[in-house]
Amino acid sequence: MTLLLSKMILMKTNFSIVKNLINKMHSNASMISGQNLSVKILPALEDNFMYLIIDEKTKDAAIVDPVNPKIACDAIDESKVNLKKILTTHHHWDHAGGNKSMHEKYKNIEILGGDDRVEAINQIVSHDDTFNIGSLNIKCLATPCHTSGHICYLVTDNSGSDPPAVFTGDTLFIGGCGRFFEGTPDQMFKALNDILGSLPDETRVYCGHEYTCKNLQFGLTVEPNNEEIKNTLKWAREKRNEKSPTVPSTIGKEKKINPFMRVNTQSILTHTSAHDPIKAMGILRKEKDNF
Ligand SMILES: [Zn+2]
Repeated sequence: MTLLLSKMILMKTNFSIVKNLINKMHSNASMISGQNLSVKILPALEDNFMYLIIDEKTKDAAIVDPVNPKIACDAIDESKVNLKKILTTHHHWDHAGGNKSMHEKYKNIEILGGDDRVEAINQIVSHDDTFNIGSLNIKCLATPCHTSGHICYLVTDNSGSDPPAVFTGDTLFIGGCGRFFEGTPDQMFKALNDILGSLPDETRVYCGHEYTCKNLQFGLTVEPNNEEIKNTLKWAREKRNEKSPTVPSTIGKEKKINPFMRVNTQSILTHTSAHDPIKAMGILRKEKDNF
């Protein structure tokens, strides 16, 4: 009897821990509504984001990195959309770890990603591959460095009523970038400056983690006089106080506040004492790893 009682108490404790975890999501879910392209921002784990991409014309949808299937499925049901694809940015468990259980619920779902380490993947995509979600166009952008198979997804609305959106996983964060686990400064330079940096300034940036405040604090140690970073940090702290996400940013904004997208500027070259932007990229990343 005593054993049973203590088991029951333990179960109750575990249940309340789980309940508390659910209640303590890092951010409130929110919706960026467009005429054709809408994005539902869904918090997961300690600081991850999942995104439900909705084509308003057809109500077809795709979900990015659904690591918390319960929250993802609830959002899909509530939004009354038809889930067509899972877009995985990379194989790390905090992005791909919900794929198998999503596949169990959505039997015919296509699960996309850049390499076969992505959980439950059934369609490997490459740079410049394109497909549609309803009337929306999606283009895969390979950005190897954080992982060798990392893919960003660019979504555009053909009618031009809504700005493009790019889902950058752990390549580009607001004010920062991902660690170089499987790549080089040269690759991250290419990813941030040539590939993502060539997108229109108004492109909305939806990244994989809520790291904005910490990134901007680092940015200020790199460029203490950058007024844009100061103002954005103040804004981001206010948003975080009310548990609002700081996504989306835009490509134009990142070019002003993100040191890793500014390695061509004299200010960053001077700070890193580097003669070329790729060297500056490597030095900055090492500095940030120890920040
Ligand atoms: Zn990662």
